[in-house]
Amino acid sequence: MTRTHTCGELRLEHVGCTVSLCGWIQGIRDKGKLLWLDIRDRYGITQLILEEGAAPSTLLQQTKELGREYVVKVQGVVCERKERNPRLSTGDIEVQVQTLELLNTAKTPPFLIEPDTDGGEELRMRHRYLDLRRPPLQSNLMLRHQVMQQTRAYLNQKQFLEIETPTLIKSTPEGARDFVVPARTQPGQFYALPQSPQACKQLLMVAGFDRYYQLARCFRDEDLRTDRQPEFTQIDCELSFTTQDEIMALFEGLTKYLFQHIKQIELPSFPRMAYATAMQLYGTDKPDLRFGMPFVELTHLAQGHGLRVFDDAVLVVGICAQGCSGYTRKQLDLLTDFVKQPQVGASGLVYVKCNADGSFKSSVDKFFDQTQLARWGEVLNAQPGDLILVLAGEAQTTRQALSALRLKMGNERGLRDPAKFAPLWIVDFPLLEWDLTTQRYQARHHPFTAPRPADISLLEEEPEAVHADAYDLVINGVEVGGGSMRIYNRAMQEKILNILGFSAEEAQQQFGFLLEALEYGAPPHGGIALGLDRLCSLLGNSESIRSFIAFPKNNAGRDVMLKAPAPIAQDQLQELGIEPKLR
Ligand code: ASP
Repeated sequence: MTRTHTCGELRLEHVGCTVSLCGWIQGIRDKGKLLWLDIRDRYGITQLILEEGAAPSTLLQQTKELGREYVVKVQGVVCERKERNPRLSTGDIEVQVQTLELLNTAKTPPFLIEPDTDGGEELRMRHRYLDLRRPPLQSNLMLRHQVMQQTRAYLNQKQFLEIETPTLIKSTPEGARDFVVPARTQPGQFYALPQSPQACKQLLMVAGFDRYYQLARCFRDEDLRTDRQPEFTQIDCELSFTTQDEIMALFEGLTKYLFQHIKQIELPSFPRMAYATAMQLYGTDKPDLRFGMPFVELTHLAQGHGLRVFDDAVLVVGICAQGCSGYTRKQLDLLTDFVKQPQVGASGLVYVKCNADGSFKSSVDKFFDQTQLARWGEVLNAQPGDLILVLAGEAQTTRQALSALRLKMGNERGLRDPAKFAPLWIVDFPLLEWDLTTQRYQARHHPFTAPRPADISLLEEEPEAVHADAYDLVINGVEVGGGSMRIYNRAMQEKILNILGFSAEEAQQQFGFLLEALEYGAPPHGGIALGLDRLCSLLGNSESIRSFIAFPKNNAGRDVMLKAPAPIAQDQLQELGIEPKLR
C-alpha cells in the first residue's frame, strides 16, 4: 500500500500505530538536532518529526536538503505532541519518521502555497495547478463537487433523468453571440456551441422524458464583464405536464436542500415579487433583499419649485440611508462622484440630512424650505439621524443609477453580510421588450417562452403588455437562475418568431426542426436553469465565480495557462477552408 492514511486523518487514537503518508512538503523547521516538517495533501496537514538518536543520522541529513513542495512518502510512528496545535485537525499528534522516500523534487513555487498567498492574480492564473493546491481553492472545488452530487441526489429522487445533449449543435439564441466551430468535412459550414441546451431539452420533452436534467456546459460569446465566464455550467432542467408553481416549488426545494446539506442553513420560504414592483422599489429585477432602503418617488413633491434638474426630470426618486446624516462634505462628494461615473450615469446627487434636532440640511436649501423637506422625510419614513439621497432624470437610467447607489450604501453600512441569505422569486415578467438599437422586439427570456394564456389576446395590439409565465430566482442581488413555461404548438411559436422579426423563411431555416417537432404531439412543458458557478460562489460566501471553477478564463476571456485562444497553423486553416487573413 502506498499510503495508509491521508494527511488530515491522524488523531490521538492512532498513537502508537505505524503509518505511511504521502504529500507535498509545506515547510521545514530545522532546529539542528531536531527537524519538523509539515506535509500536505487535500485532506490536511500532518507534522512530521525527525530527531537525532531516534532517526538514522543520514535520514536527518537527507531531509534537511528537501525543499518546499517536494513530493514525499514517509513511514513512521504516530506520537502524541508535546505542544498541541488546536488550529490543525491533526494538531494533537505528530509522526516520528523512520523512512522517507523522495517521490519527486519541485522547483521553488513562484508564490506561497498557503491560505494567504503573495502571488498576483496573473501569476497564479499562469500556474493554476499551484494555486489550486492552496487550501481555500481546494475547499472551493470540494464544495462544487458537493453541490453537483447533492443536486443529482435531489433531482434523482424527484424522478428526473440525467441526459446529455450535444456540444456541437446549431445556434439556439439566448441573447448572446455563438461560439462557432468550423466543420472540416463540410467546408463553409459551422457548428455552434450551445448557449444553453434549450432546444434539445424541449425536444426531450417531445420524446417523452418528462423530467430531464443535466449539469450542462454553456458557451456565450459576450462582451466580457468582470467575473463573467465565456463558458459556464448550468443545472439545466425541463418538465412536462407541469405548472409554473410546481416548477418553482421544486427548484425552491432544490435550493433549500443545497443550503441545508452544504451549509446547514434552513432558508425560509422564498417570497415572490412582481417584476414591475422590483423595478419600482429597487430599480432592478435582481434586488438584494438583505436590506431595505426601498425607492420612494418624490416627483410630485420635487417639481414646481424652480429647480431645473427636478422640473425637467421624468422621475425624481430617493432612498433613505439610516444613521448617515453625519456624512461629511467629503463623503457626500464621493457619493456624487460615484453616481456621476459613466457606468452609473446620473447627472448629480441631491441630499437631505435629517439632523438629530429635527431640522433639515440639504443641497437644495435655496429651493425648498424646512416644511417641504420635512414632507420628503415623511414620505421616505426618515428619522432624525438619517440621510436622504435623491436622483432625478429619465426614468429607466435614474432607477438604474439609484439601484447602484443603494447597493453602495448597503456596502458602506455593512448591510450586505455574505453570511446572510435573502432569496426571492421575481415573477410576472413582460414577454417582450423593445430594443432601441435593433428597433425590434426581443424576447425578455428567450423566444420559446409562452405568453401568459390570459394575455394572448393582447399580442397583436399591445405586445408590450403581454406577460410571460417566467420566473427568476434571485439571492442576495444575484440572478441564480431563471426559466419559463414554453410554447408547445407550432402556430404560436411561429407567431412569436414573427413578432420578434423573423420572416417565415428565417424561422423555418433557423428553427424548422423545433417547429416540426411541435407538430408531433408536444406535451405542455416548462423548465428552468440555475447557474452552478454562481450558486457555488454564494454557498462559498464569495463574490468570485472564478474561484469555484478549476480552470477559468481571465477577464479578457483568455486562459493564460493554456494560452488560449491562439492562432492555428496555415495548413489547419486551409484544411478547414478558412482563408488566412492577410496582414
Ligand atoms: N435556457 C434558459 C437559460 O439559459 C433557461 C430556461 O429557460 O430553462 O437561461
